[in-house]
Amino acid sequence: MKEKDIFCRIINGEIPCHKLYEDDDVLAFLDISQVTRGHALVIPKKHYDNFLSVPHEEMHKVMDVAQRIGQIAIKFLGAKGVNILTNCYEAAGQTVNHFHVHVIPRYEDKEGFHLEMRNNSSEELNLPALAREIKENL
Ligand code: AMP
Repeated sequence: MKEKDIFCRIINGEIPCHKLYEDDDVLAFLDISQVTRGHALVIPKKHYDNFLSVPHEEMHKVMDVAQRIGQIAIKFLGAKGVNILTNCYEAAGQTVNHFHVHVIPRYEDKEGFHLEMRNNSSEELNLPALAREIKENL
């Protein structure tokens, strides 16, 4: 039998968490690493490997709770911004194989989270061909 991932174990109550929200389909709790103050995770109770495999309805329920926690970070925690992030597969930094959305409040002081998007555009990237390739498969 496949071993349960750590978030399935949290849902089953086998591992404790700092719960923020729960309903029949969704659970939200504080991320143990707290890369910034209030860093939260929102997950579906049913197991899906990641964002790319979760059905629309459940994805929307998870995103709805993530939005509300993000709003609270701004309104009540004093955050100046919020990153909503979900990693898909190891190559993108996914370490827990259960769909989850990070809500990462951002403050102006030194933080444990850094996001850099460098301009990687070059002559070698044929943007019209690239756009066509994606569009044709949508
Ligand atoms: P990712 O790297 O996107 O898969 O994120 C997994 C996240 O789960 C990390 O930020 C971890 O700190 C967090 N995490 C792992 N175990 C626990 C736990 N028992 N309680 C809360 N957060 C956890």
